[in-house]
Amino acid sequence: MNTKAARIGVLGGTFDPIHIGHLAAASEVFAALSLDLVLVVPAAEQPFKRGTEVAAGQDRLAMARMAVAADPRLEVSAVDIERGAPTYTIDTMTDLDAAHPGSTWYFVTGADALARLDEWRDSERLRELATFVGVTRPGYDVPAGLGDIPLVEVPALGVSSTDVRRRVSLGLPIRYLVPDVVADYIGEHHLYRGGAHG
Ligand code: NAP
Repeated sequence: MNTKAARIGVLGGTFDPIHIGHLAAASEVFAALSLDLVLVVPAAEQPFKRGTEVAAGQDRLAMARMAVAADPRLEVSAVDIERGAPTYTIDTMTDLDAAHPGSTWYFVTGADALARLDEWRDSERLRELATFVGVTRPGYDVPAGLGDIPLVEVPALGVSSTDVRRRVSLGLPIRYLVPDVVADYIGEHHLYRGGAHG
């Protein structure tokens, strides 16, 4: 689509793997913020988690692409994976803004991650570039330190990537927690089998 002067949501996260909670969050913010597009942007490695083992960027990217393929409201961007670690959101937003000049930006991610936004690189400039929006899981306490960041509760975020990985490592089903194409990819590529992903 022509995204010039568009209202674009950026759904940032590790997506290890992408699950239906992320897709429901994208759908929810698309409607709540009257967006034209939501870009799902898998991080290479975020700065507060250096050295944490996650599935390869290309696997996380492939799963995200498959998950959004049928939904014209959603696209995947490889800017963070292609730039490589560490992923600073100021770089994400600078690259995306150059690719879609004139857009109005909303950066959307888990409220836990946003609680430390003041410590992110160039946080003041970042807040000028994008409006930050936190998504929350039902039943979880809202983390301290969010300040004026608006929150959107997403019931389907009862699903978590941690739980999906745990279920795979225990041989439990993940069907309906992730899109079928993602479940098939995890099986075919033997991801999360060792239990090393927590
Ligand atoms: P995280 O700690 O993995 O996630 C925090 C919580 O939010 C988890 O419960 C996670 O659930 C949930 N979550 C993460 N992304 C989500 C999404 N898009 N929609 C709904 N829930 C989501 O956080 P992270 O993924 O590492 O970081 C989030 C984003 O912030 C990334 O784009 C990262 O690059 C950026 N970030 C930037 C800086 C910086 O610039 N200095 C620092 C920290 C984070 P699941 O595990 O189920 O996803």
